[in-house]
Amino acid sequence: MSAGFPSLKSSALKRFNRDFVVTLEKGVPKSVTGIRAEKSLKQLFIEKKAKEVGAAYPQLGIYSPPWGNEKRCSPHTEKVGRGVPGCPECWRESKAWASTDAWGMRHNFDLAIRDPESEEAIVLEVKMFVSDRNPNGEMQRFLGQLLLARSKHPIVTGICGRTAQANMGFCRDTERVRAWGLHLGVELIFLDVS
Ligand SMILES: [Zn+2]
Repeated sequence: MSAGFPSLKSSALKRFNRDFVVTLEKGVPKSVTGIRAEKSLKQLFIEKKAKEVGAAYPQLGIYSPPWGNEKRCSPHTEKVGRGVPGCPECWRESKAWASTDAWGMRHNFDLAIRDPESEEAIVLEVKMFVSDRNPNGEMQRFLGQLLLARSKHPIVTGICGRTAQANMGFCRDTERVRAWGLHLGVELIFLDVS
């Protein structure tokens, strides 16, 4: 990995990431409907899969938004490993280590998986492009968010949902961009959603 960027030491996070990427790349099952809004994509697919994959790694903490959940863990995830998923207090506290703060701005991310022993985390950013028009500006912003996360975290995963219909044409350099991302430690996963 490039000098100056953090590289991953935690073997549990490495294995989690490998399993999680494999699971996500299988795609959104047809049985999962109503996933077209960004919130649904996050809740019904990505967070759900993170918890499923994370079940094999109880030492890792999964930090996701509460989405109205008020149930808290005691004591907190940072101290003991796995807490209550979506604990509002853990989510709020996670900003202190998960967010990238630079030039007076705080950049938050959508999901984080942390190894409390090595104090490393994988952070994820999720985007849903609902329009069939090409969202070039949103895509460029998405990549910028991932790079801001990568300045601080050893593995960053960007997950982008698009309708299959929209994902046509202009794909000549897709693999080049994906490989460039991997070289930087940024996984880029595009999912067809309906
Ligand atoms: Zn908590």
